Amino acid sequence: MAIKILGAGPAGLCAAINLCRAGKNVLVYERRAGAGLRFCPNLQGLRYLYMPPEEFMQKMGVEAKVEFAYFPRAIICTRKRKVELDCSGGSLMPFVVRGAGGELGKHSLDSALFSEAEKLGAQFEFNSRASESDADIIASGSRGEPHSAALGGVFENSDFPRGCQLVMFDDRYSPRGWYSYILPVGNDRVEFVTCVSKPYIPQLAQLHAKAMKERKEIADVVGGRKKIASFAGSASARMPKSARIGKKYFVGEAAGFQDPYMGFGIAYALRSGHLAAKSLLGGSDYDALWRREFGYYLRKDAAYRLVMETLGDAAAELMMSKYHDGQRADLSSTLPEKNAAYRAIVEGFALLARVKRKISGRW
Ligand SMILES: Cc1cc2nc3c(=O)[nH]c(=O)nc-3n(C[C@H](O)[C@H](O)[C@H](O)COP(=O)(O)OP(=O)(O)OC[C@H]3O[C@@H](n4cnc5c(N)ncnc54)[C@H](O)[C@@H]3O)c2cc1C
Repeated sequence: MAIKILGAGPAGLCAAINLCRAGKNVLVYERRAGAGLRFCPNLQGLRYLYMPPEEFMQKMGVEAKVEFAYFPRAIICTRKRKVELDCSGGSLMPFVVRGAGGELGKHSLDSALFSEAEKLGAQFEFNSRASESDADIIASGSRGEPHSAALGGVFENSDFPRGCQLVMFDDRYSPRGWYSYILPVGNDRVEFVTCVSKPYIPQLAQLHAKAMKERKEIADVVGGRKKIASFAGSASARMPKSARIGKKYFVGEAAGFQDPYMGFGIAYALRSGHLAAKSLLGGSDYDALWRREFGYYLRKDAAYRLVMETLGDAAAELMMSKYHDGQRADLSSTLPEKNAAYRAIVEGFALLARVKRKISGRW
């Protein structure tokens, strides 16, 4: 009998690939007409890999030829400052295209995972809105109250330097320490994305438009340019006690595995898809596996969110105060994970963040 998976996002596809490779029959239900259609092609970053992305994919049991993009220059804007950094000497965050179809979508993470799963024999039922009771692995993405949302537009622009990303922390447009960014797409487009937390979701479109109008660094790149496409979505980060209900495995955002700090969920989706397959195949305890592999990082995201939510612009100014224009910088560098005092502080803040969420309903 086939193992049934609900949802053909990164979590569901990664589980499907690993199960097929072990000789299982797999059936994936996807409510859209194809894999990756949740997004019009856009670039998304892979955070928390702690190894080269090719090695990470291999560790996830995925052989798919995923193309990675890098941005060795960074323009960081806070409310008061703008600094241009040369990040080429540090370890850069890899980006992947999300989405399907079209010129860029052909090289997307979703297309690569789907092709691999299909080649290995996974069966797909598209346009099929199955219910959770029909499936063994629930990989249907964000559910419940969103903690954050993002709105993006793709604009014609060939002047913005390729190989450069612009990230802006400014509470007037992304309140309480959220952010917006510009990334070049191909040779003649850029995407501009605004991210906000739960209380500001109803104003997201106005904040996005306001940044394009008021903030010179954004207006110079996208103001008055032709908009080619729009995309939007919300995320719901939870810290589940268990990601199993009865015999069912919850993976990716369906389990609440999302980052409350910045909304990066792909690595958690791939990791949990991989671990659910491992547990199903070998009988190991899924909850113990994900807690060991990334439980700490989920708590760390919650701790950082608490700091950003509390201090907003002040935290961004503080973070950027050590940088000056033209400096060489490694933005990926983090404080030592193995330092016991640092970890204890993170755990303390994470606990506070969870208490705050319980009381206020938001991170
Ligand atoms: C605008 C935006 C930008 C983002 N940028 C980043 C980024 O830079 N880095 C990062 O790491 N993360 C980013 N994220 C988050 C990231 O996209 C998600 O965390 C990730 O896609 C989660 O993967 P998943 O497989 O759990 O769920 P999804 O990718 O949401 O896949 C779930 C799939 O299940 C299908 N489905 C849902 N219900 C059913 C049903 N009943 N029956 C059948 N199928 C169903 C959906 O159609 C979908 O295809 C971003 C999100 C948004 C919205």
